[in-house]
Amino acid sequence: MELKGMFCAECGKEVKRDQLIKGLCIDCYRKSHTFFKIKRKPEIEICRLCYAYQIHGKWTFPSYGRDYGDHLEMAIREILTSAISSSPEGSLFFIDIDKESMVFGNKMIRVTAIVGGIFKDDPQRRIVEEKVDIEIKVKFTVCPRCTHIQRGTFEAIIQLRAVSPSKLKDLQNWAISTIEKIMMTRGMKSSKDYILEIKENKREGGIDIYLGSVVLARAVCQELKNKYGVKVIESRKLVKKRPDGNIYKYTFSVRPLPVERGDVVVLGNNKKYVVLEPTPARGKIHLYDLDTGKVENLPCENLWRRGVQILHGPHLQKKKCMVVSVSPDSLIVMDLNDYSTIEVGTPAIGDIREGDTVDLVKIDDTLYVLPNKLLEKKAGRKIA
Ligand SMILES: [Zn+2]
Ligand SMILES: [Zn+2]
Repeated sequence: MELKGMFCAECGKEVKRDQLIKGLCIDCYRKSHTFFKIKRKPEIEICRLCYAYQIHGKWTFPSYGRDYGDHLEMAIREILTSAISSSPEGSLFFIDIDKESMVFGNKMIRVTAIVGGIFKDDPQRRIVEEKVDIEIKVKFTVCPRCTHIQRGTFEAIIQLRAVSPSKLKDLQNWAISTIEKIMMTRGMKSSKDYILEIKENKREGGIDIYLGSVVLARAVCQELKNKYGVKVIESRKLVKKRPDGNIYKYTFSVRPLPVERGDVVVLGNNKKYVVLEPTPARGKIHLYDLDTGKVENLPCENLWRRGVQILHGPHLQKKKCMVVSVSPDSLIVMDLNDYSTIEVGTPAIGDIREGDTVDLVKIDDTLYVLPNKLLEKKAGRKIA
């Protein structure tokens, strides 16, 4: 059945029957009805130091590395969402901000919101949009996080210690990027997630990072352990005795594996390895087994065990030799120092040909060929 044309009772415009809302065209209906309502005069508290904001008693802190403009827009979105809702006559579908319209004053923010929704009595359920000017009351204060920072409050120190300046630099980079990453994933609700200070500790030769939260510090150390195989020693000091729980300051001493490329590691089970890549990946370190000639990835914790010996590459007594003959079970070389012939009984001869120059090392009275080609390849990749 064809719908007959009808007329709006207000303006007399001809519309289809199912376009009339209670006898009116949608334009006339809108003049006396709304699909949304503004619940209360919205209020927000904003930190004048970091732009953290508080709505209904809950603080949201700016996420690390995030643009302040984005953060404020989020604040306005949140406050508008809590202030605008459906009216009894309609359903609110969306709220948008006209970014150009934002005006920031001393005690208010003025913004134009674009709201969209439907009227319940509209048979066609057409989505209508409307622009609403809203004034948000603003109080500028200092947020709890900035208050902690101003007072110099901290719960934990992460102490980075390493055997060489370059290792310390690596460790510092790992630590800072891990802190930033964890602060971002932990969201923006904790007033204690901040770096208070990064200080050089000249006396102990290291870097100390002061953190607002021990929970954050512990999460950072766990990640450093899992990813880079560092060793972490946690200790705490009583600061204040309290009946409802004593207050402690926590210290996390963090050390990277004290190995460099080319070092020889002798494990407790007498397995001997050459370090091919000193920077661990996913908690494992890239090693060359001197007995089998195989390349392995071993968990870093194996190198932290008691009884592990680390022989530093530059301190190894190396003999420069030339390969005379290679067979599956023996290798004969000539010492380039005194031209004597040496037979090496190790099966691990890898990619070696007659005429090659090799380095021999003696460990526990056994001669081994160092994997120079693998070491060069690793070093080359690092530079490139
Ligand atoms: Zn009308
Ligand atoms: Zn603040």
